[in-house]
Amino acid sequence: VTGVPGVGKSTFIEALGVRLTGAGHRLAVLAVDPTSSISRGSILGDKTRMEALARDERAFIRPSPTGGSLGGVSRKTRETILLCEAAGYDIVLVETVGVGQSEILVAEMVDFFLLLLLAGGGDQLQGIKRGIMELADLVAITKADGNNAGRAARAQREYAAALRFLLPKSELWKPSVCSVSALEGIGIQEVWDEVEAHHLRLEEAGELARRRRRQRVRWMWAMVDEGMRQRLEDIPELQQRIPELEGQVEEETLTPTLAAREILATLRS
Ligand code: GDP
Repeated sequence: VTGVPGVGKSTFIEALGVRLTGAGHRLAVLAVDPTSSISRGSILGDKTRMEALARDERAFIRPSPTGGSLGGVSRKTRETILLCEAAGYDIVLVETVGVGQSEILVAEMVDFFLLLLLAGGGDQLQGIKRGIMELADLVAITKADGNNAGRAARAQREYAAALRFLLPKSELWKPSVCSVSALEGIGIQEVWDEVEAHHLRLEEAGELARRRRRQRVRWMWAMVDEGMRQRLEDIPELQQRIPELEGQVEEETLTPTLAAREILATLRS
């Protein structure tokens, strides 16, 4: 579940979560908030969030791991997903702040990607990164209630039109746009129906298993990339040399290729 701060993620997850636990599921909610490692104060951690779910015995809520890089934060989240599954949570929701890189990493560890959007005024399509729209299996316009209901309906139509221009992630599934009001409980069940329909369709076609296989391999390489980089940064002679090389690359006195070659050469020794 992704969306910018204030779009209504916690409220939505609470409304959906209470339904799911009420239907007998055991639910884990994990957060990936890269801003928490930058600003210390986590956007997701600041408020009292999901009070009803927090008290629910069938639910487990884990705030974003703090400290470390985005890669580190998401690695912990991926490991926690596996742990939650092993511990008997049959549904795991991962919440992420829509600020760029984190969505892409999260998309690599989940089965279904839900994008929450606000109905803005007029130029709403401009603010969203196309890349994020392309990841979505479903787009939900939030806060479709009261004065906002008309605007939400309009946004729903506009985004639906915009989606038609994007290449779907899978031939088996065409992402659609719906609207929800977490406060009034409107559209929540419909979102879950989509998630289940998606799951069923991909599972029957063997696509879910394929996707998970691919994700595991990509994950392996992501860990190798991160580990190599860490190892390089730990090499004593490089600790001085890297800033120098960066400076030279910035000033164009050294090409990126030659600088990269020099850094990689230290791996051989
Ligand atoms: P998050 O930052 O994405 O987790 O957003 P929150 O769930 O904290 O919601 C941000 C604000 O929007 C809060 O003041 C909520 O009360 C409000 N909000 C959330 N969902 C709805 C909704 O369905 N309808 C209305 N009218 N307000 C909502």
